[in-house]
Amino acid sequence: MKCPICKTEVPLDSEFLPFCRERCKLIDLGNWASEKYIISTPMDPFEHYESEDE
Ligand SMILES: [Zn+2]
Repeated sequence: MKCPICKTEVPLDSEFLPFCRERCKLIDLGNWASEKYIISTPMDPFEHYESEDE
């Protein structure tokens, strides 16, 4: 599988799956956090229900 952040091939035994390394994991968390800030101004709450995949 490939790292969603940098598209590097990730070893299946990586402790940071699905990321290749901690750095990419942190970048993803950062993306998430900034998305949350935007969402915290609820304009249409129903629109976000479908994008909840972990
Ligand atoms: Zn990566």
